[in-house]
Amino acid sequence: MTNSKNLKKGTQAIHVGNHPDKTTGAVIPPIYQTSTFVQSSPGEHQGYEYSRSHNPTRSRLEECLASLENADYALVTSSGMSAISLIFQALPKGSKVLCGDDVYGGTYRILNTIYNDRFELKQVNSTDLEAVHDVLNSYKPDLIWLESPTNPMLQISDIHAIVEASRKIGAKVVLDNTFMSPYFQNPLDLGVDMVVHSLTKYINGHSDVVGGAIMLNDKELYDKLWYLQNSIGPSQSPFDSWLVLRGIKTLAIRMEAHAKNAMIIAEFLENHPKIEKVIYPGLSSHPQHELAKSQMSGFGGMLSLYIKGGLEETKRFLEEVNLFVLAESLGGVESLIEHPAIMTHASVPSEERAILGITDNFVRVSVGIEDVNDLKKDLNDALKTI
Ligand SMILES: *Cc1c(COP(=O)(O)O)cnc(C)c1O
Repeated sequence: MTNSKNLKKGTQAIHVGNHPDKTTGAVIPPIYQTSTFVQSSPGEHQGYEYSRSHNPTRSRLEECLASLENADYALVTSSGMSAISLIFQALPKGSKVLCGDDVYGGTYRILNTIYNDRFELKQVNSTDLEAVHDVLNSYKPDLIWLESPTNPMLQISDIHAIVEASRKIGAKVVLDNTFMSPYFQNPLDLGVDMVVHSLTKYINGHSDVVGGAIMLNDKELYDKLWYLQNSIGPSQSPFDSWLVLRGIKTLAIRMEAHAKNAMIIAEFLENHPKIEKVIYPGLSSHPQHELAKSQMSGFGGMLSLYIKGGLEETKRFLEEVNLFVLAESLGGVESLIEHPAIMTHASVPSEERAILGITDNFVRVSVGIEDVNDLKKDLNDALKTI
């Protein structure tokens, strides 16, 4: 392989980790669907002993993912949540965690119900730099957990500014980059210490695998995370890693298509009489539109909206759409739609949901790559019924 760092993302996604099989010439390397590896003498092997520890198919995916995030190391795990959990496992007991106030429901849940007796936790509106500076200085966290854009409010934080401020107090910064994928945003380049992804979403892109990944440059931290993964066991199966390698090849064209469709749908809905408000980083009405332009190379495929009406009208709209599949998750080629208050964010207490703006008429949309005219018609037909 030529130095993968000189290649564009669309090429990396297809070629890195995808060398033809040396023994047979197969252009697509086989799936190493094996749990164990033969040794010629005790301790004598070819680098692989047992698939919980390492598997050649998973290693290929790790190589590809590291290159896409401009990272030295990547660790592939059985789910996004197990990747997130490994990072918290690596954090010493008694550490102080500062977390954005609008994060993935599962991240919120694990911090508040699984690790709540292990760490101190504070949350902050990470779009408010002044509030971030204040809490960094008074609370002095060891780890800062960010999402940008956030889920489901699509708020954008100034990643580089937060990293600079965190360095001054010696805190590490982790960014969950699931919403942008490595195609539109590379947080390690902005100084973040670790990037986490749910491979389940855009990276695999076909709604048929659950997986996660951590990308980073620090060898010592990588070794610790690998040790934890090998000890605790959330390693991805070879078959799932192979499916992600298959899905990831089209990451570049999928992300371009998601973003193009999302922009058209966002503009269409912003002018629709049945819609109160649309949130999409690509719209100039988005409060951090300029910041989004400066730290992302595209605006992604996620948008949120408020229906004019209450729970009844919103439910009706969600029942009436056909192409938009009413389901949790996001980032698949098919368009998905969901009701955060009842579905993905039900684990966030209702008072906090109200503060964030996750109301009964609030809807999150993952715009797929179907023909955009069909998508517009589907939304319009459903909106006519309310
Ligand atoms: C889905 C998701 C996760 C969790 O990933 P799983 O693969 O479902 O375990 C974490 N963060 C974000 C932003 C997500 O969308």
